Parts: sequence; C-alpha cells; structure tokens
Amino acid sequence: MPEVPELVEGIRARRRAAVSQAITLVESTKAEHRTAARELLTILAEEGETGVQSPAIRVGISGVPGVGKSTFIEALGSRLTAEGHRVGVLAVDPSSVRTGGSVLGDKTRMSRLSADANAYIRPSPTAGTLGGVARATAQSMAVLEAAAYDVVLVETVGVGQSEITVSGMVDTFLFLTLARTGDQLQGIKKGILEIADVIAVNKADGDDEIPAKSAARELAGALRLVRGHDEWAPPVITCSGLADIGVDEVWQRVLAHREHLGSGGLAAKRADQQLEFTWALVRDELDQRLRRSAKVRAIREEISAAVLSGDLPATVAADRILAAYDQ
Ligand code: GDP
Repeated sequence: MPEVPELVEGIRARRRAAVSQAITLVESTKAEHRTAARELLTILAEEGETGVQSPAIRVGISGVPGVGKSTFIEALGSRLTAEGHRVGVLAVDPSSVRTGGSVLGDKTRMSRLSADANAYIRPSPTAGTLGGVARATAQSMAVLEAAAYDVVLVETVGVGQSEITVSGMVDTFLFLTLARTGDQLQGIKKGILEIADVIAVNKADGDDEIPAKSAARELAGALRLVRGHDEWAPPVITCSGLADIGVDEVWQRVLAHREHLGSGGLAAKRADQQLEFTWALVRDELDQRLRRSAKVRAIREEISAAVLSGDLPATVAADRILAAYDQ
C-alpha cells in the first residue's frame, strides 16, 4: 500500500489505481490502515472545502434482486458519462456481511460501464457488519468525490435496513420496483415508501409497458396515503433499463428532487446525515467492542445457557453482561 501523500496525489490526478488502493485502505479494519485512512480522509476533506466544485450528486438505488438495478445503472451511467459526467458506482450488500459472498458482487453484468474510462465500479465491501459496510461506503464516496467523480450511485438490495442505511448517505433515494397491483402492492414495505424520493416501475417494455403504467398509477395513489403531508411528493414513473426507455426521465426526476432541496436544504440534509452517521459509527464500534471483550466472552456461554434453560431472566442476564463489559 502506498503512503498517504502518494495516494492523495494519485487521487487528485484521477488515477484509477490510486482510487482503488484508497478504497481498499478505507475498507480495511486493521488498526494501522484505519489510522492511515483517517489521515487520508482528513486531507481530502480539507481540499474539498477549498475546492470550488459543487458537491457531487449522491443517489441511492434500491430494489429486490432481479428488479434490474445493474441493467438500469448501466444504461443511466452510460448516458451520464456521454454527457461528460464522471460516474462512481458503489454497492451496499448486506448479504456479503452474512455470507462473505454477495448478491451484488457480480459486476461483470455492467460490462459496458466497467469499460468506460469515466466510470468507476466497486463491489460491496465485506466488512463484517452493516455498520462496517456503511462506514466503508461513506468513506469510499469521499475518495470518489475527491477523484472528481461528480455522480455517485450507491446500489443496494431491497431487504430493509440496508435501504435505511443508504438513504442516510445520499441526497436522493431512487426505488426501482416491478408492475404490481392490488394485493401485490402490499408486498412493498411501507418503510421503503417513506424514504423513497423517486419511484420507477422498471421493465416497462414490450407487453409489460401497459401493466407497468397502471401499476405506477396505483402506486402513486398508495404513496399519497403514506406521504400525504410531505413537501415533496415522490414521482412514480415507468422505465426500462434494458430498452433504455424513460431512463433519462428518471434522472430528470432525481435532479428535480435535488432542486427541490435547494443548496441550503442539501447542506442541511448532509449535515444531519453526518450527525446521524457519527452516532451510527459509535454504536457500531461499541457493538464490536462488546463482541471482542474478553470479560464478556468468559461468561457468554454460561449466561446464554442460563437464559435458555429459564434459570436467568433476560434483564438480570443483560446486567451481568454489561457489568462484565464495564469491568
Ligand atoms: P438486479 O439483480 O436488480 O441487478 O437485476 P439485473 O439488472 O441483473 O436484471 C435481472 C434480469 O432482468 C436480467 O435477466 C435482465 O436482463 C432483466 N432486465 C433488467 N432490466 C430489464 C428491463 O428493463 N426490461 C426487461 N424486460 N428485462 C430487464
């Protein structure tokens, strides 16, 4: 691993190898890497403040596996680079945390974008916990922005907590879904509707175009019930990543949401996110320390057994674990 000043210089010069090394560094959980990563990010943040560049556009993109995220990102990313943008794609994949493998890992699917000199695609880190992945992703975003990627797309799978996590680090959250009506609509988690800023019914091509349009209308109706009083009414539109239909319209809605926030609103949103993230990092670190604590480990099995057999109430067990940790 090169020294920090060398990395900074490489990132500034937009060298891909330096960007990749810097992201590997911020993903690492080793103590010495963490120190170097902090140093790197501090330098990049100082430069960021003196830079005249407007902040990068950060967009979260989620949806269940198979909804067409990769295909959509390929179409959108290629459009954006053709317009002169530099596009970074990061992934937050909670399955990588559990299995070490990943649903989003197979990025060979975005073959066109991978070969694009103005795009950078990085699979999800496998950093042990969702908090760890979030930390790595937020820091990777800072590296990409320092390397002049002005659009950062953060892809995640539709399973709940990862969306909440990603929505906490982007400006605009795009939810991709498929044509569903009536009862099937219930299957879309209410939580998603609460955080989505733009919703697109994907795969609206061929025979599926008409059902997609009516599903979008129905979803828009459902959304009004959930989000009735919000200042921003999330648009629900249709698109096809595969046929490249409506992809630009989706992007226009993303930009409209950003415009709605305004520069003051965006700055306030990012400041709030930083504060939230601060506490999330603290909670994650405490959780790690609890797991690593030798004193806790020493009593863990005995306490678990006592709780399972009904000999120890949960409240007492929790107190004992905390007492062991505090020792
Ligand atoms: P992801 O798991 O959400 O990343 O989904 P993929 O982009 O890998 O797509 C899953 C499958 O759906 C693939 O077989 C794609 O070819 C197909 N697909 C993706 N987008 C579209 C689309 O817009 N229309 C149609 N008809 N198929 C699509």
